[in-house]
Amino acid sequence: MRCSTRALYRKTWLAESKEAPVVNSGRLFYCLTPNVRLQFVVMEKDLDINKAVRQHFEMDDFFTGGFAVKGKATPSEPQQQDDDATVAEAAAELEKIADEVRKCCKCGLGSLRTNAVPGEGSPNARIFFIGEGPGADEDAQGRPFVGRAGKLLDKVIEACGLKRSDVFIGNILKCRPPENRDPRPDEIISCLPYLQRQIEIINPEVIVALGAHAARTLLNTNKSIGQLRGQFHEYYAGIGKPPIKLMATYHTAYLLRSYTPENRKRLWEDMKKVLAELGLPIPEHGTKS
Ligand code: URA
Repeated sequence: MRCSTRALYRKTWLAESKEAPVVNSGRLFYCLTPNVRLQFVVMEKDLDINKAVRQHFEMDDFFTGGFAVKGKATPSEPQQQDDDATVAEAAAELEKIADEVRKCCKCGLGSLRTNAVPGEGSPNARIFFIGEGPGADEDAQGRPFVGRAGKLLDKVIEACGLKRSDVFIGNILKCRPPENRDPRPDEIISCLPYLQRQIEIINPEVIVALGAHAARTLLNTNKSIGQLRGQFHEYYAGIGKPPIKLMATYHTAYLLRSYTPENRKRLWEDMKKVLAELGLPIPEHGTKS
């Protein structure tokens, strides 16, 4: 499996962020290494506490990947080259899957489509949005979420302070079911391996399942979206692989049909949890979209 520096720093960051230091001596020194703690004891008399705190945060920022989230510092050149190569490799693997999807005739939908819709976005995405299946606009263009529901998803992504190109967007089904009917079990069974492979390659930190079909399929449950949304679940990527956090929320198509302040607020609350989980800033204007 790919293991970029970003992933390594992310793991450190996750582990460390649970023990985020507070500026008081007890907590602060609890977070420092035994060596540093020893130095403190020895140098206690002359210690400039402000300087020590500042240094600690600088060190913390470096090791916890603050640079990756906020773009403060950059990885060293050889490391950058490794990362670039890993991303290019992931992009090539995703393109291979897309080619397979475009040729796929594993279920009846293959003969009905205008275009297959493999999914698109950053091979390095931290968030993977997953919908149900392409509609008429997506079928016409071969791209996910480009119709009305897609425009609303774009607004949600922007409200999060992100760009569409920062995330990956895909669907449970890669071809449009006629008259936008619900996906059938045999279609899901045929199509799901493509999505599973995409998830494995991208290895996102959070999956956002849009609507009941995506959430139920990925979590293997029959619960309603009302029961599932608003909390993190775990998506199992395979034996021996760490689970990926999954936030279930309303599908933007549902929101268009039921565009109430309550539903918009619920979706935004769900996305705020995702941003918090990723350590990203939570824009205040989010509820307005
Ligand atoms: N609805 C979905 O579930 N997926 C799309 O790509 C578009 C609309």
